[in-house]
Amino acid sequence: MATMTLSTGTAEGVTAKPCRFCGAPLEQTFVDLGMSPLCETYPSAADLNRREVYYPLHAYVCGECFLVQLEAYETPEGIFSHYPYFSSYSDSWLKHAETYCQRMKQRLALSENSFVMEVASNDGYLLQYFVRMGVPVLGIEPAANVARVAEEKGVATLVRFFGTQLAKRLAAEGRCADLVLGNNVLAQVPDLNDFVEGLKIVLKPEGVLTLEFPHLLRLMEHNEFDTIYHEHFSYFSMLTAVRILETHGLTVFDVEELGSHGGSLRVFACRKEVRAQEVEPRVRELIAEEEKAGLATLKGYENFAEQVKQTKWTLLEFLLQAAREGKRVAGYGAPGKSATLLHFCGIGKDLIEYTVDRSPHKQGRFLPGTHIPIYHPDRIRETRPDYVVILPWNLKDEILQQLQYIREWGGRFVVPIPNLTVC
Ligand SMILES: [Zn+2]
Repeated sequence: MATMTLSTGTAEGVTAKPCRFCGAPLEQTFVDLGMSPLCETYPSAADLNRREVYYPLHAYVCGECFLVQLEAYETPEGIFSHYPYFSSYSDSWLKHAETYCQRMKQRLALSENSFVMEVASNDGYLLQYFVRMGVPVLGIEPAANVARVAEEKGVATLVRFFGTQLAKRLAAEGRCADLVLGNNVLAQVPDLNDFVEGLKIVLKPEGVLTLEFPHLLRLMEHNEFDTIYHEHFSYFSMLTAVRILETHGLTVFDVEELGSHGGSLRVFACRKEVRAQEVEPRVRELIAEEEKAGLATLKGYENFAEQVKQTKWTLLEFLLQAAREGKRVAGYGAPGKSATLLHFCGIGKDLIEYTVDRSPHKQGRFLPGTHIPIYHPDRIRETRPDYVVILPWNLKDEILQQLQYIREWGGRFVVPIPNLTVC
């Protein structure tokens, strides 16, 4: 019966999958969050008796390049062709986009003779500002319903997935750009190398590329494990991002740390052979900070899973205690990350009765898997819960302000991440 011996990590007989970037076998678990449904699929009442597809949410870290990654179980077409997320519903995100456009116009001296291209341009939330400044743009967006909204705003949009094939076509048509940008798209690309190579192809020789993505260092520091979900295939440290771009002939010459999505990076890159830009010292400084945090060795990734497990136990203990005391507990928000948190922690309607969301696209629907109902925010005032669990913890300050009225009946807030806080 010797064959029955199981080792921890990869199951016996299962060949390790190759790293999405460098091809090395993925042998070390970063964190295994169990099974979860696709987080941006909100079933309606009519869907509740239908089958829901669950996928493993098992993140690995590559021992060679330290890219943290999930296997892509669902095709991008299956996830993104009719994506319900419209960027323009968030005021703070629009402001973020407008400021970026103003700064880039100045920094790169963009004019009516320039050309800006955004990959995953969503509903034109960003390019609309360049259009207003008279700078010619092209958006590339795979979700047709979202792209249509962009076109209505006057943002020229190609409904396509981006990669070398499309990039070569655009380059052949003479449509290379002075500025190419991609915000929160790098994580969502299954064929990372093809995508990054494509970015270089559509970049003019002196052009600048900017990419924004959640920063793995902050995800680990702040225990943001619920930002790991199926739509995000890859999780980047600065050192891994630099290495990936470098491999594709792109030099990172500047970086900014942003508060968005629990801590993001905006990297600036140019073609390596042109070297038009001086490399700012903060590129090296940030990499040094990551090295100090252990991100350049596999050891640095070992404790994360334990930290996540402790968070789960603490949250469950609190909710079970509240339930036993007969307290009413509601949620606030229905962000994608709530699916990861609730599934991993095994939290259902017995522990969180319902949640509310400002987006009319989500009201009247249900959270995937747990089927916790999503109502209009007024429901909180009507039912006066003892506790409100804030699921989009990244918007905590804004939500605490909006919901101050729960104090009228002695209601309290519960913030699950980074560590359980009741206030
Ligand atoms: Zn790798």
